[in-house]
Amino acid sequence: MRVGIGTDVHPIEPGRPCWMAGLLFEDADGCAGHSDGDVAAHALCDALLSAAGLGDLGSVFGTGRPEWDGVSGARMLAEVRRLLEDAGYVVGNAAVQIIGNRPKIGPRREEAQRVLGDVVGAPVSVSATTTDGLGLTGRGEGVAAVATALVIPTDSAR
Ligand code: MG
Repeated sequence: MRVGIGTDVHPIEPGRPCWMAGLLFEDADGCAGHSDGDVAAHALCDALLSAAGLGDLGSVFGTGRPEWDGVSGARMLAEVRRLLEDAGYVVGNAAVQIIGNRPKIGPRREEAQRVLGDVVGAPVSVSATTTDGLGLTGRGEGVAAVATALVIPTDSAR
């Protein structure tokens, strides 16, 4: 088994749709970014790529690849799963913690875990925290996410 880690931070852009952990939150401003700004999905992608030793979001979906402009975090996560499976890994489980004031994750945690878990084909835990008003997330300027993932070589999974 192999573990990996991923992080992401994006600035909040007033009026932009808020995609977070694969869900659309109508009551919060979303994050600016190259894709849909879903920092939770992006951190999970990086954690999975890290675990499998397949590089990172920049090397896989880099800004030099305009076909990935505006693509949803869930779609990127599905592509990461495909890359992992091609490389001989399945996802064991993954976890992501969202750091910021909004959106409020708790009421939709189960839904987010179900959506993300369906995409990667393994359990995904979603949690959230604030920074008590400190830093860029505390001031509401941005949202961050940290993720870990465990991947299993296909040979040993069978
Ligand atoms: Mg990102």
